[in-house]
Amino acid sequence: MAVAAGPLAAAIAAAARGRRPRLVEMLAELTALDAPSGDPEALAAPASLLVSWLEDLGARPAVTATAAGPLIDARLGAPDRDPVLLLCHYDTVWPVGTAAERPFAVEGEIARGPGVLDMRGGIVACLGALATPAELGVDGRPVRILLTPDEETGSEASRAAIVSAAAAAALVLVPEPALPDGSLKTSRKGWLLVRLVAHGVAAHAGLEPGRGASAVDELLAALVELQGLRDPAGDITVNFGLLRSANPANVVAGRAEATVDLRVADAAGAARARAALAALRARDPRARLEPEELHFRPPLTRTAAGAAAAAWVSDLAAALGLGELGEGHAGGVSDANLAAAAGVPILDGLGPVGGGAHAHEEWVDLGSLVERCALIGLLLATDQPDPRRGDADA
Ligand SMILES: [Zn+2]
Repeated sequence: MAVAAGPLAAAIAAAARGRRPRLVEMLAELTALDAPSGDPEALAAPASLLVSWLEDLGARPAVTATAAGPLIDARLGAPDRDPVLLLCHYDTVWPVGTAAERPFAVEGEIARGPGVLDMRGGIVACLGALATPAELGVDGRPVRILLTPDEETGSEASRAAIVSAAAAAALVLVPEPALPDGSLKTSRKGWLLVRLVAHGVAAHAGLEPGRGASAVDELLAALVELQGLRDPAGDITVNFGLLRSANPANVVAGRAEATVDLRVADAAGAARARAALAALRARDPRARLEPEELHFRPPLTRTAAGAAAAAWVSDLAAALGLGELGEGHAGGVSDANLAAAAGVPILDGLGPVGGGAHAHEEWVDLGSLVERCALIGLLLATDQPDPRRGDADA
């Protein structure tokens, strides 16, 4: 193994173990604050806590007020190389009042509370890791950390900042929850959310049905056609959400709409889905179909550079005594999908192991929190061997 991480790995593992009480305390402090996506008023408190922690690390965070809430951008280390970007979101799916209703609690190795896994555990692991190189007198790699307020609702206000920060980075790390076995996420499906509106001609369903052109009929036929995009391998999935037509049943519908959720494994799948939407035609010439793209996140496809970075991090995990770290695929989207557009290697799922994300039983494994703090710390203190030199498997 090319990673000369032996003594450093042991020191970092020991530092992370020593930091455990503080990591748990930080997780408790953060989880005591509500952080509903896109609510600037409610997000002010968690944002100022995060800023104070970054200032403790010696950073001078830039805080930008966006429509969705404060966006925090901080840099650490000498800016002599492209930084490693830690891409974090501090919003949660939980409304104001949840922190009081379901407070942070620890039972053995398990901590519970709103957002402990997604992604407060990941944020705390990163902040603990950022303290490590200085503590051990090691020159770490330059780091940029972005903490965004609206990932859970689509990152509209943060999207431009994420894309530009990723483009300027050497490597992007996303501390979303790990896969259940601890594996990293090196690919994610893309997501296309569409509103499909059918416009017809309204008429009395009993007196003169022939004068009408039913928007509901057109919508249903179009949805059946979109079902044809589904493939047995699951590379494209199609799901329908809200179906709406506000007219009573004795009226031929003049308007009907549906939301359509399409997940695609790769860029070709995204192109197929868009082509199918563009080709939709009403059967009745008096009616018309109007697909509107509400949201798109490109797929995070597994690249050679991403796989090499994952193999390197697996070596680092082994040096820490954590065993080999696998890599895998996630069906859901994260901000890694947005960063993917920059073309730099991305490792997602670097956060701790747990379960119940977006659910009441959400929990995080505290042993894993300490391990991820050590892993991210070692990663930030070690240069990745250049795979082109062939020393990745030396
Ligand atoms: Zn998340």
